[in-house]
Amino acid sequence: MAQQNFNPFEQLVKKYCRYFEVNSPKQFNLAQWYQILAEGTRDIAYQQLPNDNQKGRHVNYLSMEFLIGRLTGNNLINLGYYDMAKAYLQDYGVDIVDVLEQETDPALGNGGLGRLAACFLDSMATLGQAATGYGLNYQYGLFKQHFAQGKQQETADFWDREHYPWQTYNASKTQYIGFAGSITHIAEDRYHWQPDIKVQGKAYDLAVVGYQNKHLQTLRLWQADNELEFNFAQFNEGEFLQAESQIVQATALTKVLYPNDNHQAGQRLRLMQQYFHVACSVADILARHLAMGYDIKTFAQHQVIQLNDTHPTLAILELMRVLLDEYHLAWQQAWDICCHSFAYTNHTLLPEALEQWDQHLFQQLFPRHFIIVEKINQLFQQQVQAKFGDNAEIWKKVAILYDYRVRMANLCVVTCFKVNGVAEIHSQLLITELFPEYYQLFPQKFCNVTNGITPRRWIYQANPSLSGLLTKSLPKDWLKDLTQLSQIEKYVDDIGFRDEYQQIKQYNKHQLAKEIALTLDLKVNPQAIFDVQIKRIHEYKRQHLNLLNIIATYQALKANPNLDITPRLFIFAGKAAPGYYLAKDIICAINRVAKVINQDKSVRDKLQVAFLPNYRVSLAEKIIPAADISEQISMAGTEASGTGNMKLALNGALTVGTLDGANVEIAQMVGEQHIFLFGHTVESVRKLLATGYNPRDYYQQHLPLKQAIDFLSDPLVCGNEPQLFKTLQDNLINQDPFLVLADFASYVDIQKTVGEAYGDQQRWWQSAILNTARLGMFSSDRAIADYQQRIWLK
Ligand SMILES: *Cc1c(COP(=O)(O)O)cnc(C)c1O
Repeated sequence: MAQQNFNPFEQLVKKYCRYFEVNSPKQFNLAQWYQILAEGTRDIAYQQLPNDNQKGRHVNYLSMEFLIGRLTGNNLINLGYYDMAKAYLQDYGVDIVDVLEQETDPALGNGGLGRLAACFLDSMATLGQAATGYGLNYQYGLFKQHFAQGKQQETADFWDREHYPWQTYNASKTQYIGFAGSITHIAEDRYHWQPDIKVQGKAYDLAVVGYQNKHLQTLRLWQADNELEFNFAQFNEGEFLQAESQIVQATALTKVLYPNDNHQAGQRLRLMQQYFHVACSVADILARHLAMGYDIKTFAQHQVIQLNDTHPTLAILELMRVLLDEYHLAWQQAWDICCHSFAYTNHTLLPEALEQWDQHLFQQLFPRHFIIVEKINQLFQQQVQAKFGDNAEIWKKVAILYDYRVRMANLCVVTCFKVNGVAEIHSQLLITELFPEYYQLFPQKFCNVTNGITPRRWIYQANPSLSGLLTKSLPKDWLKDLTQLSQIEKYVDDIGFRDEYQQIKQYNKHQLAKEIALTLDLKVNPQAIFDVQIKRIHEYKRQHLNLLNIIATYQALKANPNLDITPRLFIFAGKAAPGYYLAKDIICAINRVAKVINQDKSVRDKLQVAFLPNYRVSLAEKIIPAADISEQISMAGTEASGTGNMKLALNGALTVGTLDGANVEIAQMVGEQHIFLFGHTVESVRKLLATGYNPRDYYQQHLPLKQAIDFLSDPLVCGNEPQLFKTLQDNLINQDPFLVLADFASYVDIQKTVGEAYGDQQRWWQSAILNTARLGMFSSDRAIADYQQRIWLK
């Protein structure tokens, strides 16, 4: 890695000796070292050049979530100063890893969607794509999770944004955002809006630095402030905010991140957050566009606004409003600009996640925007009639306004010039299942961009040992082009390389074993297969399928103590939305079963279960390098892409997976001999559901399955609460919407195959190496290059 001569830390150390009132830096504690390291790194970052490469359009990436993780280590790497900082600290007997552990994890996202946005920022900066990320500066990020008697407990994640060293208040960028109020008609398609309240939106900027290319760009997070410009007394506070059952002051707008993943919240405050986010961002984009000296009419030539899911859809209506009412453009001009500047990324097919807002709520908060969406809807209806005639069935599906609801995904597809899914299979299903009528109307809009992950964080930072081996073995900087990894294929039969690869995994497993001992007071067998399922807890992701196999394995071991199985440690991590009771039951069930198994001396050498609390980016970075098996077992057709699957496979874990999301492409890349596929496919899922799925038949006809489900009401597991898991059991036996029972037998079989495969160590490590070697296309650099070619440059 590039080394620099300039040492920015020297000066700071002197300054902080005085500040901390110590005689020598030797007296600094880790928190003090962290402050110096972060500040010094930030100073270096701001010496980079703002990315003013305006060859292409400026990408404005709008996302309600940016799950950025700790920034200091990542930025040191990208700036090329990591090794120098490490050596400098070493001179004082301090380990940089311990210092970086001091940083809080800005948890400004829920899961995959927010993490994707963070990986994309890293890659856009690295590719030199001019871009700005726009998000919200939540005071409380995603809740902190711990367990009490196995049950998830949530506490506030107050991450102290005011003192986060990577964030700077940009006073020049403040915006004022209105809500509710009244409108007056001025002229055709022109209104005057008199909002009831105005909220201040303050800009907090985070530096995003490209990988060793001296580029700097901005993640701008909006924070609501109390200062109300308008006469607050005029505003009928009680009526307006009662529904929220709390007095919402302006600051409340960005207090909390809604903790839902793949589920729409539906609350007024959430809708207000969405508008606050996009109104601040649209105003900021327009101001930057005009400051560059461009005409308002050329907006779409210079700007693209990428919508990360439907959460920022209101930006479409906001841009229309501003163009019509403030710039006095004609409807068609304004509409053309919107239709050429917005692009939409869909992240889910799950109906419960598709955003729809109550029309009355919408109209009350956004009286002007509602008139605009009504007109868009009307004009679109004419287009639909021209294509399909008077077809009530079709209109029911494609309407933007229907049944007193405002449907955000439909507004996106009607407006945006591109609509992309996030993996091949997902993009196909978008066309065939979610949007078939739209595909007939606008086939040219639809495309795919398979997700990716940044290799700077997900292998270089998270797995320094493996990265060292790769750097040593490859001629070029593989972090700039991850497809370079394919060149290690030639070493799969090189015993020296294989041994080293294997020893690195073993070392990482020891490190994780220490972490597990610390957090769970559990001594695990580091020789076991480390079998990892880490992701949000959701029925569709089927952690309960994993659990049922664990129970069945335990029962088989109890029935036959001499059963010869490869020792296995099942590792879980993940949060459930606080209001998602079934997901919380699944967490509790895993913890209770873990306790029974871990306390049973007779199986200790063969079977253990560890559920690590408070899953977050920094925990992911510790688990992933130590994984042997990656569980990607969602019901086929439900996981849009997944990115955890990519991180794990890149670090040499073999996937146990269904043909869902990006698993399909991972299987194509690594080859079917190097992945463990099982279960129903999208086609067979559809067939099974169409012919009438009866989970009870499986329960009654497959004894190990019945025994596994029944085990959840065994006093061993639920103590003196026999009903504890009744809802979960009943759900599985009577409904089982995600086909856990239908896939159980196939899953148990493949897990048996995994255990046997580990016996052939030579083949196992060949497969692991090939997973690393063949994962190059899943770099987010490739994903961003695809966005450039398929979406942004058009
Ligand atoms: C990668 C990542 C996710 C997404 O995981 P999936 O397995 O794709 O659902 C969620 N949370 C964190 C912290 C991550 O790093």
